[in-house]
Parts: sequence; structure tokens; C-alpha cells
Amino acid sequence: MPDPKTGDSVKVKTSDKEFEGILMPIPDILDKDVTVIKLDNGYNIGIDNKKIKKIELIKGYKKPSHSKKKLKPKKGLPNITIISAGGTISSKVDYRTGGVYADYTAEDFTSMMPELADIANLKAKKIMSIMSEDMTPKEWRLLAIEIEKELDSGADGVVVTQGTDTLHYTSAALSFLLKDLSKPVILTAAQRSIDRGSSDAFMNLICAVKAAASDIAEVSTCMHGTTNDDYCLLIKGTKARKMHTSRRDAFRPINDLPLAKIYEGGKIDVLDKDHKKRSDTKTKADTKFQEKIALLHVYPGMDPSLLDNYKDYKGLVIAATGLGNIPQSLFNKIKEIDMPIVIAPQTIYGRVHPLVYANLRELSIKLNCIFAEDMTPETAYAKLGYVLGHTSKIEEVKEQMQANISGEITKRSLEKTFLY
Ligand code: GLU
Repeated sequence: MPDPKTGDSVKVKTSDKEFEGILMPIPDILDKDVTVIKLDNGYNIGIDNKKIKKIELIKGYKKPSHSKKKLKPKKGLPNITIISAGGTISSKVDYRTGGVYADYTAEDFTSMMPELADIANLKAKKIMSIMSEDMTPKEWRLLAIEIEKELDSGADGVVVTQGTDTLHYTSAALSFLLKDLSKPVILTAAQRSIDRGSSDAFMNLICAVKAAASDIAEVSTCMHGTTNDDYCLLIKGTKARKMHTSRRDAFRPINDLPLAKIYEGGKIDVLDKDHKKRSDTKTKADTKFQEKIALLHVYPGMDPSLLDNYKDYKGLVIAATGLGNIPQSLFNKIKEIDMPIVIAPQTIYGRVHPLVYANLRELSIKLNCIFAEDMTPETAYAKLGYVLGHTSKIEEVKEQMQANISGEITKRSLEKTFLY
């Protein structure tokens, strides 16, 4: 029998234990005297070669193939398009190289989750295959255009799958770029890849498709609501934020309640009865977006000359401390740079207040900074790009940044929205 090769299923026998799994390549950072196998639960373990008595081949490596056969449309089911853009939800390990690639197409999802075929007539489109930290406003535009195409040609809702890292930037941007939205646009993702037993991909996708078929005509995120598989939270795209590096329930509503809880079995608990309802209005992608903007985090000891790098920018969002403070040492630079400056809270929770302290009054009144109420810095960034794509007149920018365009500003801060 030939020696097992990477990618093969094997049984590794040591003097006192046996492990079954897929033989993995040894990453450069690991000691070469170990054998790494991926266990059935998705975790990799390294076994000291000195302890290994025998490695038995169970099954040779076979390139996974997913049938791309077209699903037959079922009468009475809604039409939902899944647009895939990359991220962990689309990732698979290449057992030959050990690399992780954003490679699954939306069609692959539907063949891996046949139950989706009973929820909706699905159409799948892969429009890019990147990690979400590499996304830019160009990708947001592309998504908006694709979504418009789908919604205006028969889709009853759209699900977008991408990486979790910047999902909340995309959801905020799409909330502004999609005008007259009349159908659900649901963003979903996964914190754990599909080949791990604890993957959240399946439930997130199933709940997202259900949400896309619902009456909630908003751009929203749909991700695990708890660390168990209890339900997913549907959160307004302008109010969602990734709040944990790795937990499956990382996405939380900020300064707002979720729109709904979506259960895998089909139940939807609507928590915000004022959500926009499905209608027949045509959705338009309004993709004028000023990209020459920046999002800056201020901190004690920040060198004021850093702001010189932004002289030719068209606008800045500053994630300011506390109620919207900026170190006084930066005031002169702010006076010099002539562009809209938006103040958002780096505390994430709460609202910035332009008038509480003398310094804040100076920022808002003398330096004409725009206080972004209870918007997250990321939402303020996406909104500023959108607003500056349409006007550069400071008074208009100010008025629009402080108006509630897409659910990004709540009127009152409700107690129960903190750490929801
Ligand atoms: N950093 C990658 C991304 O955001 C992978 C993380 C993920 O998908 O959760 O695309």
C-alpha cells in the first residue's frame, strides 16, 4: 500500500492512542518532527513523530466536488438570490497546501444545504472571492449594482455572503447606496469555516434565506444571536457591529434593538414593528461615493502632525473619546484643514454631545465639527462617503449627516440597548 499523502484520510497509531483524520501539510512555523491531522471535529492536532508507531491509509484524497445541477423552481416559493463575495463562509482548506481559500460558490452552498430548496427558489451568483478586510467602496458599489439587478428582475429578496470582519461596513454602505429599497437584503457570514463541526455557516445561511423571504424590507445582518444554535439576530445594517474576534454571536445591535429573531425552524419574532415593509417600488443603486475620506481614532499623546497627511482629503470621521472629545493639541490642525469633520463615539455605545463641555462647544461651534449622534464610527464613515458623493457644501453635508436617512440615528437612547 502506498504511503499516505497529505489530504488522505488516515489512522495514526501511537503506543497508547489512535487518531483518525485527514493528513495535513506541516505549516512552516511548526517543528518538522510532527504529523498534523485534521480531526473530524475540524480541529488540527500535531503528534510527535517519535511516538508514532504506524500511519494507516483509510481513504485516498479526493477533490471535493459539488453538483452544480440547477434546482427546479417550486411553485409558491419566493425567489431568493444568494450573492457570494468571499470570507470564511466561502472558505475551504486546500489539504494539499494547507492554505485557506475563499472558494465556495453560492451554488456550492445550495448543494451542501439541500433544505434551502424547501424555503425558496434559489439563484446563486459568485461575484468576488476575497477576504472582507480587502473590500473597498468599489466592492460596495459592485454589490449595490448586483442587488439592484436581482431585485428588479424577479428576486423577492437577496442574501449576500462575505467575510465577517467588515460585514458591518458593507451593511452600512448598502443601507445608503440602495435607494427606495422595497425587499429584504440580508448580509450573512460565518465565524467558523464550513469544515468545522462548530461552524455557524449553515444556520446563519438558512436564517438569512428565511429573512430574505420575510416582510422586513431592510438591509440587515443575520448572524448567531447566542453561542448556541438558538436563533439568529436580524440587525439593521446601520446599527450592526462585529463586537468579538471569534465568538459566533459576535454581531450585536449598537444603540438599537434587533429588528427580529429568526429561528432555524422558520419562526420569526419581530422586535421592531416599525420596520420597512415589502412593496413593489423599484430599488435603485445610487453609487456616487466619495472615496477620499478617512476614519481616524484619536488617543492620548496623538501627534497632531499626523493630521497633515489628510490635507488633500475631502472629509474625515474622527472616532473621538467619551462624549466626542478630541485632544486640544489637535485643535489648531483641525482649524487648518478645511473639510467636513464628523465626530463619532469611540466608546461605540452612546451618543456624542456637542454642548456638554467647553471643549466640545469649541469643536462644534468654532471648528464646525459635525456630531454624528449615536452612529458607530464605521456607519459614520460609510455615510460620509455617500453624502460627500452627492454634495460638498458643508451646510448640506452637516444637515444630511445629522438627519436619519437609513435608521442610523435613533431619537432616544433606550436603556436595554446597551450590551444587548
Ligand atoms: N478576515 C476574513 C474576512 O473577514 C475571514 C473572517 C471571516 O470571514 O469571518 O473575510
